[in-house]
Amino acid sequence: MAKRACVVCETDQYAEDYCHIDGQNYLHCHHCGLIYIDQLLKTENLYKAYSGNFIKSFRRRLVAPFRKLNNYKNFEQQKQRAEQIIDFSIRHMQTSGENKKYLDIGCNRGFNLAAAHEKGLNVYGIELVPELIRPFINSYPQYKSQIFSERFEDAKRQLAANMFDLITGIDVVEHFEDVVKDLQGIYDILKPGGMVVFQTPDTACEHAHKDKCQWGALKPLEHLHLFSGKNLETLVRRVGFSDYSLEKEFEEADGNFVAVMYK
Ligand SMILES: [Zn+2]
Repeated sequence: MAKRACVVCETDQYAEDYCHIDGQNYLHCHHCGLIYIDQLLKTENLYKAYSGNFIKSFRRRLVAPFRKLNNYKNFEQQKQRAEQIIDFSIRHMQTSGENKKYLDIGCNRGFNLAAAHEKGLNVYGIELVPELIRPFINSYPQYKSQIFSERFEDAKRQLAANMFDLITGIDVVEHFEDVVKDLQGIYDILKPGGMVVFQTPDTACEHAHKDKCQWGALKPLEHLHLFSGKNLETLVRRVGFSDYSLEKEFEEADGNFVAVMYK
């Protein structure tokens, strides 16, 4: 079977086998450096990776309705990280005016949303796993209709063009199935002058080279496209973003980079 084309180079010409993990094949594009899953599984199978095993998911479902945001174990640590991300974003935002709208894609437990709310932003969130975000809604019921538990491409249909001053995707781009379409979608709903902040694993980092197939960011059911600061730039500029810059990562984890761009 032909190899899947690199989404950056738009050809399979430079694709070579990279690592075989859990029955899935990662390819490496030796032109731009993208590491990506060869044959994408059907969406339903990918979803299973997000809800975890049945017991874990069942337990979360039982306790989530009674929980509030500040009941979590790493509450202080997660709150600090969120404040760091939001402070950074607000410092770099270029749009002006009141009632700034902020969307966090993959908002998890809503720590970024809570931090942004404290700074006066009107917040929206997308989180695939509803149990994760329920405690946020319990704490901030006014945002109930602005939280979507579905994939970005589905949630996007309920959002308007040129709507957001700020969109963040922290550890999110690597999860997109149709990454070009989703980046275009993000561009559409962003206001002219609006800002996007991504954090994603960095294929150019030392861990990626040294650990190769043992690199922690290689999770074939979840991480479908792994970028470097450089090939992500090629892709987002093609979509229309400008003023692309690389910034210090919010947390190192397996080796991340942060990219900032504007519409
Ligand atoms: Zn490529």
